[in-house]
Amino acid sequence: MQATYSIAVLPGDGIGTEVMAAALAVLHAAGRRCGRRFDTVSHAAGAQHFADTGVALPDGALDACRTADAILFGAMGLPHVRGADGTEVIPQLDIRFALDLYAGVRPVRTWPGLPVPLADPRATGIDLVLVRENTEGLFYARGRGEVRADEAVDPMKITRRGTARIADFALRLAQQRKARGRPGHVTNVDKANVFRSMAFWRQVVHERAAAFPDVGLDDAYVDAMALNLVAKPWQYDVLVTENMFGDILSDLIASLVGGMGMAPSADIGDRWALFQPAHGTAPDIAGSGIANPTAMMLSAAMMLEWLAARHADSALADAALAIEDAVRQCFAQGVVRPFEFGGRSGTADIAAAVQERL
Ligand code: ATP
Repeated sequence: MQATYSIAVLPGDGIGTEVMAAALAVLHAAGRRCGRRFDTVSHAAGAQHFADTGVALPDGALDACRTADAILFGAMGLPHVRGADGTEVIPQLDIRFALDLYAGVRPVRTWPGLPVPLADPRATGIDLVLVRENTEGLFYARGRGEVRADEAVDPMKITRRGTARIADFALRLAQQRKARGRPGHVTNVDKANVFRSMAFWRQVVHERAAAFPDVGLDDAYVDAMALNLVAKPWQYDVLVTENMFGDILSDLIASLVGGMGMAPSADIGDRWALFQPAHGTAPDIAGSGIANPTAMMLSAAMMLEWLAARHADSALADAALAIEDAVRQCFAQGVVRPFEFGGRSGTADIAAAVQERL
């Protein structure tokens, strides 16, 4: 077991830098509490770096990600900074592919003390995780799409290996959640009624589920899922889906618990893992100090949980729980309320309140 962990930090653009400062303060406070140190080194990368230097993700930053114990990532991308093909500069996708971070893990849940957008009282029980396949699906088209005279084509790719490993990840996660009192159920989200690729995906998911007899499995078409996630989100435990569907549904589920600032996420592979809020750089509020840092702080807690399992270091698991508990206390006791929820607590206020409780 090691007492110091190296963390590659990529704050990025817009509110990425603001929420990262908050999360680092909280991470170091949690470290002091559990007797562990975090050697956090920040690296310049992102859309602004691209605008300044012509490079979005310097080789040195990617190398640092490879050698660190874990990666903390703010947000990258600015609407006005575009590559030669007209698409946004989004280096996080390059990192995902370079480090084969195939599992996009997006948990959402409600927090006592904060309003829940849905009126149904059962909405206070929302506690689900969306597992998004991160390396193929429609995003396989990135850099491969073609525009011919009067048509544009983006290919979608589903492989047996890619589907099997994401299905296994979701099934294992459901198993772990079951041990903590959740239902232990996976809902597979696809469009198998239209696309051959999706029928193949569904077949592979079911093949893998046979090895997890203690985990329930059902299927839903993505369009019906969009409706059901708004109509009865409290019924779901773990969702697993293709890359593009996961991209869209991630934002939807964040809104179920009040906003992008409440949704943490992790991109996990077999060797490396990156932790970042589900939100983007929010240029509309950048610089005003009102960004909600909760998603970034909870992403840091997810990182501690991942490191704890990887290094068999239970002190880190305690630190993760301590961050979550401090966040819970702050909201439940009404100490802070983010602007997203109609409150007046800025990024620094929320970070300070959480730090104090640690
Ligand atoms: P991306 O495509 O890069 O994920 P996006 O287009 O989904 O980004 P975001 O940057 O996530 O957009 O912003 C969407 C909306 O949510 C904006 O109105 C933004 O102000 C708000 N928002 C995002 N993150 C936060 C946050 N941490 N606190 C408060 N509001 C936020």
